[in-house]
Amino acid sequence: MKESWRIETKMIQAGYEPASGEPRVLPIYQSTTYKYDSTEHVAKLFDLEVPGHMYTRISNPTVEALENKINALEGGVGALCTSSGQAATMVAVLNLCEAGDHLISLNTIYGGTYNLFAITFKKLGVEVSFVSPDTTAEEVAKLVRPNTKLIFGETIANPALNVLDITYWAEIAHSHGLPLIVDNTFATPYLCRPFEYGADVIVHSTSKYMDGHATCIGGVIVDSGKFDYTNGKFPGFTTKDDSYHGLVYTEAFGKAAYITKARVQFIRDMGNCISPQNAFLTHLGIETLHLRMDRHSENALKIAEFLNKHPQVASVNYPLLEGNSQYEKAKKYLPKGASGVISFEIKGTKEDAVKFMDHLELAAIVVHVADARTAVLHPASSTHRQMNDDELVAAGISPTLIRLSVGIENVEDIIEDLSRAFSYSK
Ligand SMILES: *Cc1c(COP(=O)(O)O)cnc(C)c1O
Repeated sequence: MKESWRIETKMIQAGYEPASGEPRVLPIYQSTTYKYDSTEHVAKLFDLEVPGHMYTRISNPTVEALENKINALEGGVGALCTSSGQAATMVAVLNLCEAGDHLISLNTIYGGTYNLFAITFKKLGVEVSFVSPDTTAEEVAKLVRPNTKLIFGETIANPALNVLDITYWAEIAHSHGLPLIVDNTFATPYLCRPFEYGADVIVHSTSKYMDGHATCIGGVIVDSGKFDYTNGKFPGFTTKDDSYHGLVYTEAFGKAAYITKARVQFIRDMGNCISPQNAFLTHLGIETLHLRMDRHSENALKIAEFLNKHPQVASVNYPLLEGNSQYEKAKKYLPKGASGVISFEIKGTKEDAVKFMDHLELAAIVVHVADARTAVLHPASSTHRQMNDDELVAAGISPTLIRLSVGIENVEDIIEDLSRAFSYSK
């Protein structure tokens, strides 16, 4: 791979680079284990003295190709694939925090991440303070404790669609000696590259646009290599790891200390690795990511404009829709497009929203977003159905809110489908 290649070329060419006579397409190395010529070779691998594969829980050539591709796209020093996006967030955080530690997270984040932070991490002894996107640096400073280890946010928040002011949050984090972790799932490295604005670690759910076809669950962590873990706050990086005969990560691996520790400690011990088959499919999906993200974004903007003018629509939320509260930030961080995810409220009651949903033909009711097919979800009758109307409003979810994940079909067909369904919900 050439460093100078543009991102579209890297999507296709980076990751797997066959030598003369080897398969043109990335092989699926469907093997748990590897064979060695000598016990000495194995010993050196286990001491992390030489690079190579030990066991597919820790690394695998197919998975490695996917890691190298995503790392090239984000511009990091190394990447680590995980079994899911949830696993990526969990490992990325626990690589920095242990029981008794604390982190600060934006409150506009994915529901699964919110549960992980607010409920499960609490049980593990890691405390999380949630802050709104417009919290000032002074207010954040009051929340930072000696045991605070990181700040966390999402480039485009799922489902609130807030755009993270990455430069602002990176400056705040760095002023306290903390890394900024950014979940870049919705933007993908094609629409936004958070390292260019100061983020230190990126996580993705590859189950969304990277796979792009809703075939496999996966996640990835990417390390910028720029954060200084020797600043005194991260003893796990600068003191001996007894599980490797006293190895010190920052001394042995320099700029790649964070991502190496995540792999050889956490994935080794917790086992949340991706399968070679899923890595293959995700690697294949990324080859067309740039084409798909252009179409997703173009279709979504046209549909947001259509909805905005529709008499039965009360409000539309899409970052690049003129007049949206996120518009200025979206222009800065997402100049090529804001992905395919839109939310809107239809006029009337919860029942009107249900009627609209049930009359869609092309747009399918699916509990997933960000793949090639147009999908819709009505939170009030699915993910948040245990709440009554008052509780929904308190949670910031209107009973008539619909989340639309715009696919890459012909946009006229999607608009016709929406128009038809509106005619039934009057
Ligand atoms: C889906 C999603 C996740 C979780 O990913 P899984 O692969 O489903 O575990 C994390 N963050 C965001 C922004 C997501 O959309």
